[in-house]
Amino acid sequence: MDTHWAIRDLRCPELLYTIRRINRLQSIMPRKPASSLRLVEPVRTPRDAPSTTDQIVESITGAIVEQRLMPGTKLVEQQIADVFSVSRTVVRQALNQLARSRLVTLLPARGAFVATMSAEEARQVFELRRLVEGGMARELAARITDAQIAQLRAHLQDERDAVKRSDVTGRTRLLADFHVILARLLGNEVLAELIADLLSRSQLIALMYQSGHSAEHSQSEHIEIVQALEKRDGRAAAKLMEQHITSVERNLRLDPRSPDLAAVLRPKT
Ligand SMILES: [Zn+2]
Repeated sequence: MDTHWAIRDLRCPELLYTIRRINRLQSIMPRKPASSLRLVEPVRTPRDAPSTTDQIVESITGAIVEQRLMPGTKLVEQQIADVFSVSRTVVRQALNQLARSRLVTLLPARGAFVATMSAEEARQVFELRRLVEGGMARELAARITDAQIAQLRAHLQDERDAVKRSDVTGRTRLLADFHVILARLLGNEVLAELIADLLSRSQLIALMYQSGHSAEHSQSEHIEIVQALEKRDGRAAAKLMEQHITSVERNLRLDPRSPDLAAVLRPKT
């Protein structure tokens, strides 16, 4: 028996179903504005309301993306349960989901914490982002429509306004959203989910390793990427995206800061 075929036969319908379901949800659910992602103000829509588990996951992810939750922060189950008026079991489900996407670390007998990341893991996240988002920009340049360019321009204007207003939370969210929007414009929700996940992790990295990359700098790099997309120049768009991600990474202090112990303890002569 050909195992390969058996696996394909078993898995394909399931995968197709999942993709169709995601696509359908995507067309039903309106995109939520940044203001709906507050940890303390769960927003409940009367129709098509997501489950409470999803709401908790979204709120915590939102707080991480907007850099309002520091890495290492303890996520107290009872507090979260009180905010959302749910049982701790529901909170635990949400925390398990966040642990699977590595935004939360679960420690036996100690509870849940906003994840911390090693410098090596941080490098790997940026390496993956360069690979994926470079290709994404190249692909998008080949098929972007005028209406989509207009959508990106509107987003850039929102970024600019938030930077000008010194609205830290707003601009942090908008600058991260830029990358997810590019993935959405390709119509690939699996990719959009991957990018959203990588972006959340990048935000944790930026908090941990003191990013010196300014919002203004990111904003002007985003403008250059959109200009290349507008010219349908895939090579330039990919290169600018890769450079943008590299410059964000370079502005992190990823080098180990712990000094050479022997050198520190050696008596001075
Ligand atoms: Zn960016």
